[in-house]
Amino acid sequence: MSDTAFDSSVYPLPHLLGIEGLSPVDISLFLDRADTYVEMNRKRGVMLDTLRGRVVINLFFENSTRTRTSFELAGKRLGAEVINMSVSTSSIKKGETLIDTAMTLNAMHPDVLVVRHASSGAVKLLSEKVNCAVINAGDGRHEHPTQALLDALTIRRRRGQIDGLQVAICGDILHSRVARSNIHLLNTMGARVRLIAPKTLLPAEAERLGTEVFYDMKAGLKDCDIVMMLRLQSERMESSFFPTLREYYHFYGLDYEKLESAKPDALIMHPGPMNRGVEIASDVADDIGRSVIREQVEMGVAVRMACLEVLCNNLDRAQGQEHKS
Ligand code: ASP
Repeated sequence: MSDTAFDSSVYPLPHLLGIEGLSPVDISLFLDRADTYVEMNRKRGVMLDTLRGRVVINLFFENSTRTRTSFELAGKRLGAEVINMSVSTSSIKKGETLIDTAMTLNAMHPDVLVVRHASSGAVKLLSEKVNCAVINAGDGRHEHPTQALLDALTIRRRRGQIDGLQVAICGDILHSRVARSNIHLLNTMGARVRLIAPKTLLPAEAERLGTEVFYDMKAGLKDCDIVMMLRLQSERMESSFFPTLREYYHFYGLDYEKLESAKPDALIMHPGPMNRGVEIASDVADDIGRSVIREQVEMGVAVRMACLEVLCNNLDRAQGQEHKS
C-alpha cells in the first residue's frame, strides 16, 4: 500500500517486544495507522494485499483465544499467509527447547513470529536468535504490548485523547502483563494512573511505577475517567493471595455501587477473558452505555494489522540497507 502520510520508519526497531522505552511518537504511529483500519474492517469482504507473500507464524506456548485469532485475522486481512503453531501437537511436547523451536521455524524464513510464552523475557530471548520480526503476544507477567495499544486506541477514539485522563487499573496487578504494558503506555501518553488492589496483589515496585496506589476501590475510583479491570490470574498463583473469591468480589469486584465513585461517564474496560462475578459484575460488564469491552476486541485486529505492517516495512528497509553495504 503506498501511503505518503504513513512513514513507518519513525519506529526503527525490528521487533515489538514491549511498550517500555517507546516514545509518544512510536505509540502514535501504531495508533494512527490502526485507526485507518477500523472503518475498513467494518465493511464486509474487504481484504488488502499489503502483506501478500508474507508469512506470519503464531507461536503460542500458552493458551489464547482472542489474541491468536486477532493476529490471524489481522494477517489475513492484509493478505499474509498465517500459520498457527499448536503447542499440543508441536515438538515442545517432545522436549524441544524454546530456542530450538525458534531456530527451526527461523530456518523456514517466516517474516514475522508472533510469540506468547509463560516466562517473562522468553520472547526477547527468542528474538535474539532469529532474523525475522518478532511480536510479543504476552510473556509471563512482563508485557503484552498489543493489548496496551488496543486499549489506548479504544480510549483515544472514545475520549479524543489520552493526555490528562485519570485511569484506574484494578485487581490482580501482580500477575498482569496487561497492567505493566498499560502503565508504561499511559504514563508515556500523559495519563495519570492509579493502581487499586489488595496489598498481596501489588508488585513490590508498585510505588516506583509512576502511579498512585490505593487499597480501597471506592477511594481509588473517585473521579476516574477510565476503569480498567484485570482478570484474577489463578494460573500464575502458587499460594493463596486472598481468603475467598467471595471476599475478593466483595472488596474488589466492580459493581454499580463501587462504580458510583468514578465519573458518571467513566468507561469500563477488561482485557478478557472475564471472570464474571469475581472481578466484575455481569451487568456492569454488559452495560452497553459504559462498557467498551467488545470494542477493545474490535480494536485489537486493527492494532495488530498496524503492528504487522510496520514491522514488515522495517524488514524491507533493513534488507535494502544490507544489499547496499
Ligand atoms: N488476555 C490477557 C493476557 O493474555 C489478559 C488475561 O489473560 O487476563 O494477559
